[in-house]
Amino acid sequence: MEAVNNFELSAMDRWEIGNSSPLIIAGPCSVETPQQLDETVRGLVANGVKVIRGGVWKPRTRPNSFEGVGHIALPWIKEIKEKYQVKFAIEVASPYHVEKAFEFGIDLFWIGARTSVNPFAVQEIADSLKGVDIPVLVKNPVNPDLALWIGALERINQAGIKKLGAIHRGFSNFNDQVYRNSPTWQIPLELKTRYPNLPILNDPSHICGRRDLLNSVAQMAMDLNFDGLIIESHVNPDQAWSDAAQQVTPEVLGKMIAGLHIRKVAI
Ligand code: PEP
Ligand code: MN
Repeated sequence: MEAVNNFELSAMDRWEIGNSSPLIIAGPCSVETPQQLDETVRGLVANGVKVIRGGVWKPRTRPNSFEGVGHIALPWIKEIKEKYQVKFAIEVASPYHVEKAFEFGIDLFWIGARTSVNPFAVQEIADSLKGVDIPVLVKNPVNPDLALWIGALERINQAGIKKLGAIHRGFSNFNDQVYRNSPTWQIPLELKTRYPNLPILNDPSHICGRRDLLNSVAQMAMDLNFDGLIIESHVNPDQAWSDAAQQVTPEVLGKMIAGLHIRKVAI
């Protein structure tokens, strides 16, 4: 692991969204249609989820695959937020995404693993976030580089974002026999040790790549005192336009969350 310079993440606020501890963010990998979004969110709300995730612009590995419906999803999201009284999180990967998301009242942004790997892109996003007062979560870069992850957090923090958090989504591997992205828990644990005030969520969906492993990874994150989970859920997982194999229905998700053994009481 590369040596990491110590630095202070300055003036971090404690933040809370959706009043749940641990923080649960759930929703489809991608927003696909108004109907898919409505049915998924209805199911999630019925299962106690108050903060929804949904990809609008999707950074896909290969060209010619579905790359998200784009900005047309934003008015659908606005309507769903009002209808179900939920908060909504999306991935932003450029100043344009930030501007559009802000225009439509998105409550929380995250920076994806294919963006946090690129300091130029992160700096551009950071510059566009000046004056923004919503939580921003930074996923680990795809490669197991703690310094790069911290550097991305630092760029966002130096832009004045005080409601900061991290998401552990695992690390690219060539030949892991089990996980889509190896969890390599020592990296997020090192981040937690260095920055005890930085909330960190676990993303079992992108670590596992398959739904049958989600529960064990989510439980591990709870056992390690992570502050929350961000999990993909779709009303009809097998028909999802992206990441079908790792998504679960809102009902399955609700049962899984209810069955987790949670030690932590306050974020
Ligand atoms: C996602 O959250 O759907 C996503 C694209 O994740 P990651 O950036 O972790 O690959
Ligand atoms: Mn996904």
